[in-house]
Amino acid sequence: MTEKLSPDISFDYLDENLKEIKENIAEAAIKVSRKPEDVTLMAVTKTVQPVFINHIIELGVGLIGENKVQELLSKTDYLKTDNLDMHIIGHLQSNKVRKIIDVVSTIQSLDSISLAEEISKQADKNSLTMKVLMEINIGKEESKTGFLEEECVEKAFQIAEMPGIKLEGLMAVPPICDSEKEVRKYFERMNILYQDCKSKLASKAQFTTLSMGMSSDYVPAITEGANLVRVGSALFGARRY
Ligand SMILES: *Cc1c(COP(=O)(O)O)cnc(C)c1O
Repeated sequence: MTEKLSPDISFDYLDENLKEIKENIAEAAIKVSRKPEDVTLMAVTKTVQPVFINHIIELGVGLIGENKVQELLSKTDYLKTDNLDMHIIGHLQSNKVRKIIDVVSTIQSLDSISLAEEISKQADKNSLTMKVLMEINIGKEESKTGFLEEECVEKAFQIAEMPGIKLEGLMAVPPICDSEKEVRKYFERMNILYQDCKSKLASKAQFTTLSMGMSSDYVPAITEGANLVRVGSALFGARRY
């Protein structure tokens, strides 16, 4: 892989963006009486070259997310992975699970029971435990995969029983909204669902993570209870495919 610097992204640019994002996160957390450190920042690194990913790792970001298995695997050799946690956040095909089973710590985009079964099988084969978040299709969008709100608790019980899987919470990408007020409603519903799962599944799984909020809406997501935000373009600039 060549590490060519694209013209409009520089280390200074990343330093500034990261500083601003951290300030916004802290401010949003404090406003709702939470601690800034209770909100984890994930850097979403799709289309970003390893040289820049390594820079933000050096700045102290310890968690990255990638959507695609192939892209993630093409980068791992070049990344400073010593203290790095990596998650898959995009739709994952069952036949690709084995390729990342010992690469990522968490699959945030668990969107079907059949995928959970494959993760369980591969985890068992490799004698490891894969952490997962259930992806919720909170806007019931046909273009998106994921569990529906109504079936979430029932499916969570099924998933929590599977060997080799540690169910830790929920993840969502709400529909594109015209206003902050509108997107907050989806985040609020996600938090209600999260709290419901947390209490109902208390004896089966420890819910610790509510992953929601991206570049345009991580502040309202935190206001509504997110404790993991996934930020790409606000950190690295607009993606060019
Ligand atoms: C790309 C992506 C993000 C980051 O999006 P930005 O708007 O660039 O912050 C977060 N979550 C998921 C699931 C994504 O695919």
